[in-house]
Amino acid sequence: MPFDSFHLDPMLQKAIEKLHYQEPTPIQEQVIPILLQQKNCLIQAETGSGKTAAYAIPIIQHLNIDSRPPQAMVLAPTRELAFQIRDHFRWLGMYKKVQCIACVGQQPFDQQAMDIRQRCHVVTGTPGRILDHIRQGTLPLDDIRTLVLDEADALLEKDFEADVHAVCDALPADRTIVCLSATLSPAVKAFMPDAYTTICLPEH
Ligand code: AMP
Repeated sequence: MPFDSFHLDPMLQKAIEKLHYQEPTPIQEQVIPILLQQKNCLIQAETGSGKTAAYAIPIIQHLNIDSRPPQAMVLAPTRELAFQIRDHFRWLGMYKKVQCIACVGQQPFDQQAMDIRQRCHVVTGTPGRILDHIRQGTLPLDDIRTLVLDEADALLEKDFEADVHAVCDALPADRTIVCLSATLSPAVKAFMPDAYTTICLPEH
């Protein structure tokens, strides 16, 4: 199945070709059509499966590029993962001119706030710093349509859980929730809204 069967924005299709992604990975084949319909989705996926592009491609497809406030938020449990996610959005969004900002701790808060204010289509980051921005009023949330929890099992463990729930509660009620996790723990399932699709890939 080629990527062009998803009928993506030509600028996004061009970036996929530039990155030499010849066909969707198994996880992408299942996840992309569901997220293109903006449905809540719980995905069992490991690093290396192409999981980041599986949600980044549909998010980029739906972005209104002329709008300034963030339209999607991706939470990650580590700074390293947040930077990797940002890089994926930048690569896949290179021709659409997608702006993705990583808001993580131990990096200048004011610079992040300024970058968000200028133009930010997608914000990614660790829960504590994202919550700081929300509380300081430097991260507008009204236009956020999608919340992704990457490594949701780690994000819903003791250290982060309260912050993740506080971030989620601050978002518009009609947002789509996407959780990716190596293990579908009870905490991850409990985080999902009433109606959602689950994608589990068979063991190799
Ligand atoms: P991830 O599982 O998101 O950490 O991705 C693992 C690696 O696979 C990254 O280097 C991606 O750039 C790459 N990748 C993602 N999707 C594809 C694809 N469809 N074809 C080839 N490589 C891909």
